Amino acid sequence: MTGQLKIIINEKQFLEDKGFYNDDNKLIEFVCADCDFYKPEDKILECFAFKIIKNLLRKGIVTPEEVLDAIREE
Ligand code: SF4
Repeated sequence: MTGQLKIIINEKQFLEDKGFYNDDNKLIEFVCADCDFYKPEDKILECFAFKIIKNLLRKGIVTPEEVLDAIREE
């Protein structure tokens, strides 16, 4: 099932783009693309889960690789 997720399909693109999570639009593509609430025309709202992942990535507490690994384990 996780093989169908956009985040997994596009993982190579994310991993090759070092520091992509510092770019708000790229982070939204990473975190939100598979969310049922995602609306491409409304990128202003950030849910709490988004803020948590953003801070964990930007503070270097987790890596994109670890996020992807966690998703694969679901
Ligand atoms: S900010 Fe949160 S609720 Fe909104 S699309 Fe992203 S993950 Fe979904």
